Amino acid sequence: MLIKKHISHFKKCKICNKKGVSFFKKNYSDLEFKNFFKNFYGYKQSRILLSILDNYKFHILKCNNCNFIWQEVQPIGKIAFKLYEEIIDQNKSYLKNKYLSKKIKNKVKLEEKLMENYFPSKKIKVLDFGAGWGNWLDHLDKEKFDLFAFELSKTRSIHLKNKGIKILNFSNVRKYEKFFDYIRLEQVLEHITELNECMQNLRRLTKKNSVINVSVPNGANEINNCKIRVCKGPIQPLEHVNCFSNISLKKLFYKHGFVSLKTSELFKFSFDSFYEIFPKSKFFTKSLLDSKFSTSLKFKLK
Ligand SMILES: [Zn+2]
Repeated sequence: MLIKKHISHFKKCKICNKKGVSFFKKNYSDLEFKNFFKNFYGYKQSRILLSILDNYKFHILKCNNCNFIWQEVQPIGKIAFKLYEEIIDQNKSYLKNKYLSKKIKNKVKLEEKLMENYFPSKKIKVLDFGAGWGNWLDHLDKEKFDLFAFELSKTRSIHLKNKGIKILNFSNVRKYEKFFDYIRLEQVLEHITELNECMQNLRRLTKKNSVINVSVPNGANEINNCKIRVCKGPIQPLEHVNCFSNISLKKLFYKHGFVSLKTSELFKFSFDSFYEIFPKSKFFTKSLLDSKFSTSLKFKLK
């Protein structure tokens, strides 16, 4: 009973509400899942997962209108909680993020300069939506940036609070209407079961001229070549329930009243100092290419 209540079936496209077409199907009782879960979560946790999923299928549906693909069976409520708070080893996750944090430092320091230049002469209100352990926020200067995190995990929220970061969640989100200058969503939307509710919240938090920087795994290969494998990747079983291409990610944001940043705005976002004549050319070129082909995109309100 508990399982049925906390496993949801999504048959329609979350972006255009069209009925999904079957794209790939495999029973969760298949040996491939047993091996994948054991390697990914460990033996004990994989047994728990497999006992929950025994009668379910890893069924990928596709929307022929927008190219979005998704997992029909998605964990919600207590099972989603179990997956993200218990089955995923919190210590391992923390250590992995600590290691990654060092690797992203230089990139974030450049992003910090670009933000300072784009939003001049004020303390910039920044929200890391789905902040995890707060690695990205750690690298920002607290004198220049007002730091916020939207985070639902209790363990991670406590960790973030201890670092002086203000926490948003479903209970206080309405207090921050039209509040933020810069919102970051890094590898978040692929996990969200209630995608449209999430987008409504995002819109609520955004004001005119805010920049939303979103990045999700690029599922172009899986979508265009029907390359679905039971592995870590854009359509990873249970965790990456939504899988986007450049087109479907844009459609989702356009549906909720956002537009892509124009070339001139991407250009403006590529200067690391007010006194520079030329933009950070590599960064600008990458932003332009990303906007056309990738799933790392920048949006603002229409
Ligand atoms: Zn669709």
